[in-house]
Amino acid sequence: MIQPIYSIVIPIYNEEANIHEMYRRLTGVMEQLDGESELILVDDGSQDNSLNLMRELHRLDSRVNYLSFARNFGHQVAVTAGLNFIRGKVAIVMDADLQDPPELVISMIEKWQQGYHVVYAQRISRKRENWFKRLMAYCFYRVLRQLADVDIPADTGDFCLMDRQVVDVLNTMPERNRYIRGLRAWVGFRQTAVKFERDPRFAGEVKYTFGKSWALAVNGIVSLSKVPLRIATYLGMLSACIALLMILLVLYWRLFDRTTPLIGFTLITIALFFLGSVQLFCIGILGEYIGRIYEEVKGRPIYTVKEVAGVISPSHVSVYNSSNARM
Ligand code: UDP
Ligand code: MG
Repeated sequence: MIQPIYSIVIPIYNEEANIHEMYRRLTGVMEQLDGESELILVDDGSQDNSLNLMRELHRLDSRVNYLSFARNFGHQVAVTAGLNFIRGKVAIVMDADLQDPPELVISMIEKWQQGYHVVYAQRISRKRENWFKRLMAYCFYRVLRQLADVDIPADTGDFCLMDRQVVDVLNTMPERNRYIRGLRAWVGFRQTAVKFERDPRFAGEVKYTFGKSWALAVNGIVSLSKVPLRIATYLGMLSACIALLMILLVLYWRLFDRTTPLIGFTLITIALFFLGSVQLFCIGILGEYIGRIYEEVKGRPIYTVKEVAGVISPSHVSVYNSSNARM
């Protein structure tokens, strides 16, 4: 079997309407490349016809490999799995809905040939995405940049090229809560951007619901920063200052100005609610970190695979149905 140079990883969750067009455009690009390439399609527990379409593509084209999760594990995990299975010298990660234009891969590869290890795609616009999503994304990337320990370029997603060396490092990272673009920045190496316009979806509904996007955002911040933990300390200091001020004020009233009535009930109620909410807020932040520690110590596999075709299982992936594997 020919060893591919370029491995293209594509997470797929209920994308039956996009798979054929994605394959058509990608193979157009693959034909222009100077070396062999392979596709690694990762079915993230789709309930529609996606897996059948993937099986069919694999039958018709030996460059198409796939693995299928036993249930939906989420986009970040699907990308993680795809990276576990690549054989090429370079991995390219892109979405299945053609929001990431396959043609950009050619300029990414040029940068790789110039010696960059990571080439990430940076959006200059998000055509026809709704204003709410655009606003949230705009604010989130800027907050993340402020908080994160590593420098994460704004407006970058998971669409990127990574050298094998980088993928090998990512594959040795055991963490379950994976925020790929953060881990990718964390590893270092020579990184650069290519700019692009994010197209609208070719077909189908967006799979990242508000809940999933929110979870991804929280994950990004918690996995890259300990600043939120410090917020508890700062809030504690703030409420202590407020308490001190109030003590001084009450003392002043008692000693020098007996005409001001002490508004006891109101003050106590406000203080109660204030302190109560500060404490709950801080416990919530602690909870985000502790929940993740709990997930990590359980040490479960990150995903379970029910079917693979065309790819060789890496040694660290134990849960999969080997009868489907083909060398
Ligand atoms: N996706 C996935 N699992 C999920 C949700 C999404 O594998 O639970 C895939 C989806 O099929 C697509 C990519 O992740 O290829 C990006 O999803 P989507 O287009 O819905 O998100 P957005 O464009 O908002 O990033
Ligand atoms: Mg999309």
